[in-house]
Amino acid sequence: MAEQAITNNNSVQDQWGQICSQLKTEVGETAFDSWLKPLTLGSFNDGVMNICVPTRFMRNWVITHYSDRIHKIWEKKNPEIKSVNFVVQAVNDDGKGLYSPTCRSLLKKITSTPTPNHIYQSGMASVTGNVETFANADPLSVPLNPQYTFDNFVVGKTNEFAYAAARKVAESRNVSFNPLFLYSGVGLGKTHLMHAIAWHIKQQDPTRNIVYLSAEKFMYKFVRALRYKDTTAFKEQFRSVDVLMVDDVQFMGGKDTTQEEFFYTFNSLIEEGRQIIISADKSPADLDGIEARLKSRLGCGLVADIHPTDFDLRMGILQNKAKQLGVEVPTKVCEFLAQKITSNIRELEGALRRVIAHSQLLSDKEITLDMTQDVLKDMLRSYDRRTTIDEIQKKVAEHFNISVKEMQSSRRARTVARPRQIAMYLAKQLTSRSLPEIGRKFDRDHTTVMHAVRKVEELILEDKSLAEDVDALRRVLEA
Ligand code: ADP
Ligand code: MG
Repeated sequence: MAEQAITNNNSVQDQWGQICSQLKTEVGETAFDSWLKPLTLGSFNDGVMNICVPTRFMRNWVITHYSDRIHKIWEKKNPEIKSVNFVVQAVNDDGKGLYSPTCRSLLKKITSTPTPNHIYQSGMASVTGNVETFANADPLSVPLNPQYTFDNFVVGKTNEFAYAAARKVAESRNVSFNPLFLYSGVGLGKTHLMHAIAWHIKQQDPTRNIVYLSAEKFMYKFVRALRYKDTTAFKEQFRSVDVLMVDDVQFMGGKDTTQEEFFYTFNSLIEEGRQIIISADKSPADLDGIEARLKSRLGCGLVADIHPTDFDLRMGILQNKAKQLGVEVPTKVCEFLAQKITSNIRELEGALRRVIAHSQLLSDKEITLDMTQDVLKDMLRSYDRRTTIDEIQKKVAEHFNISVKEMQSSRRARTVARPRQIAMYLAKQLTSRSLPEIGRKFDRDHTTVMHAVRKVEELILEDKSLAEDVDALRRVLEA
C-alpha cells in the first residue's frame, strides 16, 4: 500500500489512527491487538514523537518488532517526525495504596515482565480494576488458539523430536514423561505445540480438565490471591487439574514467593500423577533466577528443544500457510522468503501475511517476486542489518588473525581460545540466539558458552586493551 503524503491539517492523532489501520492489515489482528493496540500517543516535541507503552517488556518487543516500520510509515506521512520514542507508562501508578509491600513487588514484576501473547490483555485489564473479588476472578485457563493444532504443525528435522514428545504426551493416557519441558528461541512453535496437545486431549476426552496459562498469568493469579488473602482458593483451583501447562516459565525468574508457590503446586500435581507441560526459552539448567530445586524438578522429566529452522522447514511452513489461507503463492516467492527470513517462524508468517495483504488490498494484484521484494524492502533491510553468529566468527577471527576453522576447533592455546571466547560473548550480546544455539556453532556445549561470557565480562573490567578490541569489534558488527 502506497503511503500518502501528509496534508497540513492532518493532526498527528489522525495520522496515528491511519498508521494503526495500516499496521493492523500488515501484522494481522492478533498481533495488532496484543502489541500495538495498547500503545497510546504521548507528546510530540522537536521532531520526536513519544508513544506510551504499558510495560518495559512490551516496549522492548515493540522496539524490536515494529518501531522501524512505525517510524518509516510516519516519516512518509509527516516529514516533521524525525524519530519515534517509546516510553513506559506504568499501569498501576495510581493504585499503590491498595497493595501490601509483597503484593506491590509482585505487581511490579508482573507489569514489567513479558507476556508474548493475548494473555497480556486480560491479565493487565484486571490488575488495574480493583472491585472484583477473588471468587469471581477470571478462569484459570486461557483460551486456546484454534489454529494451533497438530494438523497445522509442519514437522521437519529441527522440531521432530519436540513434536514426537508432544504427540506422545497427548496420546497416552498414562503419564509417561513428567514434566515435558519444551524449550527454544522465540517464535519456533512452543506455544503452538502446547495448544496442540491440549486440543488433542480435549478431543479424546472432553472431561479431562486441562489448564493452559502463561507463567505470568500464574503469578498474576497468585498476587490476586494474596491481595484477597485467599491463597487456599488459589490452591483449590489446581486440585482438579488433570493436565497443567505453563508457558514461558523464564518469566518467573527472580526470588519471590510465586516461585515457591509454583514449586508446591508443581510437586503436588506430579505426586498425584497429573501431567505437567512447561515451556521456556532456555533449558532448565540455563534458566536465570530460578531456584536450584525448581530447576532440577523441571528437568527431571523429558526435556525437548526446538532448533532454529532450516530451509526445508521454512518452505514447508510457507506452503502450508498459503494453502490454509487459500492463496496461490508462487514457489519462487516462497523460496525467496525462506532464504531471507531465517530468524523465526513468527516473522516468516508475518512477511507472508504482509505480501498477501498487499496483493489483496490492491484488488487481487498477482503475487510476484518483484512485488514481494518491494513490499518487504524495509523489513529485509533491517533484517540484513542483524548480525549473525557466522559473521561474528568471521570478523573476530580476522581481527585476531586466526581462521574460523581454528576458532571452531578443539585447540586450547590462548591465541585461539581467547578470540573464541570473545566471539561467543559477542554472539550472546548481539544476537538473540540461546546459549545452546551459540554453542552448536562453536561445536561446544552451552556451559562453555556461559563460561566464556562470564570470562570476557571479567576481562573487560581488568584488561583495557581487550576491552578496546571487544568494543571495536562490536562497532564493526553493528555498523
Ligand atoms: P513460541 O511459543 O516458541 O514463541 P509460537 O508457538 O508462538 O512460538 O509460534 C510462532 C508462530 O509460528 C505461530 O503462529 C505458530 O503457529 C507458527 N509455527 C511455529 N512452528 C510451526 C510449525 N512447525 N508449523 C507451522 N506453524 C508453526
Ligand atoms: Mg510462546
